[in-house]
Amino acid sequence: MQGLYLYNTLSRKKEEFNAINPPFVGLYVCGPTVYSDVHLGNCRTFISFDLIYRYLLHLGYKVRYVRNITDAGHLEGDRDEGDDKFAKKAKLEQLEPMEIVQKYTVGFRTIMQLFNTLPPSIEPTATGHISEQIEMIKEIMANGLAYEKNGNVYFDVEKYNTSYNYGLLTNRKLEELLEGTRELSGQDEKKGRLDFALWIKAKPETLMKWPSPWGWGFPGWHIECSAMSRKYLGDTFDIHGGGMDLQATHHTNEIAQSQACYHTAPVNYWMHTNMLTVNGVRMSKSAGNGFLPLELFTGNHPLLEKGYEPMAVKFFMLQTHYRSTLDFSNEALQASEKGFARLMDAYKTLQNLKASATSDEDIAALKNKCYEAMNDDFNTSVLIAQLFDAVRIINSANDNKLNLTQADIDLLKSIYQDFVFDVLGLKEEEGNQKLQAALNQVMTMVLNLRAKAKQDKNFQLSDDIRNQLIASGFQIKDSKDGSSWTL
Ligand code: AMP
Ligand code: ZN
Repeated sequence: MQGLYLYNTLSRKKEEFNAINPPFVGLYVCGPTVYSDVHLGNCRTFISFDLIYRYLLHLGYKVRYVRNITDAGHLEGDRDEGDDKFAKKAKLEQLEPMEIVQKYTVGFRTIMQLFNTLPPSIEPTATGHISEQIEMIKEIMANGLAYEKNGNVYFDVEKYNTSYNYGLLTNRKLEELLEGTRELSGQDEKKGRLDFALWIKAKPETLMKWPSPWGWGFPGWHIECSAMSRKYLGDTFDIHGGGMDLQATHHTNEIAQSQACYHTAPVNYWMHTNMLTVNGVRMSKSAGNGFLPLELFTGNHPLLEKGYEPMAVKFFMLQTHYRSTLDFSNEALQASEKGFARLMDAYKTLQNLKASATSDEDIAALKNKCYEAMNDDFNTSVLIAQLFDAVRIINSANDNKLNLTQADIDLLKSIYQDFVFDVLGLKEEEGNQKLQAALNQVMTMVLNLRAKAKQDKNFQLSDDIRNQLIASGFQIKDSKDGSSWTL
C-alpha cells in the first residue's frame, strides 16, 4: 500500500507523511474559544481533525492529540484591542468568567460527542498554563525579540524578520504585510505595525489576571498555543492544524514565537481546513450567520426546513474534502440525509446477504481504493464515492443480479468497519438503533408465524402476510434456509 500524503500549508504541496519518531505522532489542533457556543463552522474543523486523528490511529500510529481550550486572552479586535471576550460575556450573562468557561466547555464537549468524535489525548486550558507562557515570553525577551512597554510585552516582528522569515506560512514578504496594516498612531506603544502582544497589562476592571515580571496581566492568544504545544509535544512536532482563518495571524505568530524562543521550526506539517459558508459567506460568530448544532438537530431556526440527525450533518460535511469550502443549504443536507440512510440500509442488507460459490466483483480492489482515497490527503469525498460503489454491489447482490462469495461479504463488512465506523466515525443513530432492534424482533416473529401458517398448509394466511409486508415496503426473500427481509 502506498504511503500517506498530506497537503502541507508550509510547502504549499502534498508531501508524504513521515513522522519524526514513528510510530508516535504529535498532533496539535487549536481548540475552541469558550466564551460562546460553537457553531457548525467550528464543528466542521474539529470533525475534520477528528477524521485525521482517526485515520492516523487506523494506520497504526500512536497519536498524542492535543486540542486546547482557549479560556482567556481573547480580545475583540485582531490588533490587541477591545474588550476581553470572556469578561464581556461574563458581564452580559451575570456570571463569573470561569462559569462562562465551564458552561461553554461542557456544551462544546456534548456537541463533539453527539458528532461521535473521539476525545483528544490532552485538552489543556490556557489558564492552566500561565507559568509556561510567562517562561516562554521571558525567553523571547532574553533573545532580544520582544520588548516591554508599560506592563505590556510585544513581539518585535521587524527585528525577528531580519533573521527569520515572518511571512513563511502565507508566502508573503514583510513589505507586503506592512502595506496591508494600518499606520501606528502617536498613542501606540508598539514599535512596529505588525508587532503583537505576548502579555497584556490588566486594567482595574480586568477579572482574569495573573502576576508576572511585568505586573498583573494576562497572556496574548498566540503565546497560549505555542506554550501548550511545546509542553506536551516538544520543541518540534509533527502536525499542527486549525481553520484557514488562523493561518495568516495566529499560526504565523506561533511560528515566530517558537523560532524566537528556541530557534527551531515548531512544526513539520501545517494543515488547514477550509470554511463552512452560508450563501457563500463564512459562518462566524461575529457575522451572526452561525447555526448552532442544537438548532440544526431540532430544526429550530428560521432558515431550517426541518431538524437533522447529527450523523446526517456529519455525513454532509464529510462528503466534501476538508480543503474545499462547503456551503450550507437545506437541499444539500437533505440529499446527505438520504445518502447516509442508503449507506446504513446497505449495511443492514449486508448482514443478510447469501454467499455464492463464484464472485463477480473485486472487493479487495475496492478496499484498496478506499485506502488510496484516504492516503491522498484524507480525501473523504472520493472515499464516500467508493463506499457508494460498495452500496451498489450489496444491493445488486441482494437482488440476485451479481454473485459474491463469503470472502467478498466478509471483506465488505470490513470496509464498513474500517472506513464507515472507524475512520469516518459514523454510526447508526441511537434512536434508530433501538427502533431497528425492535423491528428485527417483530419481523422475526411475523416471519415465524408465516412459516408456521405454511407448515399448517394455511397458504391463504401465509400469502396474506407476505402481500401485506410487501405493501408496507418490505422485500421478502424465501430460500431453502428460511425467509429473510429488507426494507
Ligand atoms: P474559534 O472558537 O473562533 O477560535 O474557532 C475554533 C476553530 O473553528 C478554529 O480552528 C477556526 O479556524 C475554526 N472555524 C471558525 N469558523 C469556521 C468556519 N466557518 N468553517 C470552518 N472552520 C471554522
Ligand atoms: Zn492556537
